[in-house]
Amino acid sequence: MPTFDLHTVLLMASVMPGLMALVMFSIGRTFPKNIPGMAQWAQGSLAFSIAAFLMALRDALPDWLSVIGGNICMVAAIGLWLIGSQRYCGRSPFVRLVPALALFDAVCLSWMTWIDFSPYGRSMCTNVILALLFARLSYELLWSSQKDSGAKIVGTMFAVETLITVMRIVTSLEPGAAQQGLYAQDRMQLVYLSSGTFMSLTITVGFMLTAVNRLRIHLEQLSLIDPLTGLLNRRALVDAHKTARETSRRKGSYLSLLLIDLDHFKSINDTYGHSTGDDILVDFARRAALALPREAHFARWGGEEFAVLFPCHRVDEPLTLAHALQSRIAGAGGSALPAYTCSIGIASLGIRESTIEQLLKLADDALYRAKRNGRNRVEVSSPIAAVLSESPHDAVA
Ligand code: GH3
Ligand code: MG
Ligand code: MG
Repeated sequence: MPTFDLHTVLLMASVMPGLMALVMFSIGRTFPKNIPGMAQWAQGSLAFSIAAFLMALRDALPDWLSVIGGNICMVAAIGLWLIGSQRYCGRSPFVRLVPALALFDAVCLSWMTWIDFSPYGRSMCTNVILALLFARLSYELLWSSQKDSGAKIVGTMFAVETLITVMRIVTSLEPGAAQQGLYAQDRMQLVYLSSGTFMSLTITVGFMLTAVNRLRIHLEQLSLIDPLTGLLNRRALVDAHKTARETSRRKGSYLSLLLIDLDHFKSINDTYGHSTGDDILVDFARRAALALPREAHFARWGGEEFAVLFPCHRVDEPLTLAHALQSRIAGAGGSALPAYTCSIGIASLGIRESTIEQLLKLADDALYRAKRNGRNRVEVSSPIAAVLSESPHDAVA
């Protein structure tokens, strides 16, 4: 079996997490608040680095500093990673349990250093605590982080680390096993230390990539959302149209587009102020959303214009929906907001021919007619009008 200098292995383990901690500290400060956990991952990586460094200098440092300090730092490191992961996954972190475990470890290690000397007992005590923390970490990252592939990879690494630590505990219980603590020259100890070194290199990078990936998803979502109303924006609706055309056949034979424009909005702004205008836009988005079917895509098309895209089986469905929308906002107004109305233009086309350009053109023409014919009304595009006039009671395709 090749021999490794275990001190060098540990020294290597101390370098990478330290560097990654610095990177995480500096990047983490610019992360949005809804991506939590980075700070604890960075603190944990720093603590891991210090722990590995203290353990590597076992021969050069006093026992209490290398053993007690190193082990407590290690428990604190994995505990901080656990707290960071729980925060990242949106779960309540173990902010009391982790310091309590570190304190318990410190008491046991002190006892077995100064009162009843036992290197084997010291390493056993810390390993049991570490195995519990590794197991919980892997549980949090594997089961709580749904579709987050980065978190799942890191979670799997912690699962492997749990297994290795448990194996180390079990093998050291066997009669005749080397019971000399960290630097025992046996195969299990070599596996344990090497995997720890490998873990320190990969897990800290894994944490970093996981957080950066979530940031990317967050920014992507932001670029598709209207910040005032929280609805989809124009770009997102065009994307939704592409997917709807490919996937909506089950849900209907038509794609319908409602273009909605709030009436006399300029004079509402002029009379009540721009911020009341903003409140009305938000109020409209909230009320209208309640009237829409689940499969509808609702967007702020721009300014005081909104768009609803949805698949349907009958061409009269969007007409019913448009009237439902209007009655939802008829109840708006009162002490908080002035009353307001909207005009709606509707286009419906068979899924195959329903390009976004065609739907928009037809809906826009219909909306223009609704404005010209007095506002606060609904107009349909000519293809729908033709179908409706052919079979006014049952406009089935
Ligand atoms: P019409 O009934 O013909 O639609 O008249 P209108 O006044 O609603 O239409 P016009 O296009 O003349 O004015 C739209 C106004 O919407 C002008 C613009 O200042 C206002 N507006 C656009 N975006 C916002 C916004 O985000 N907040 C507020 N408060 N006003 C906005
Ligand atoms: Mg307008
Ligand atoms: Mg308007």
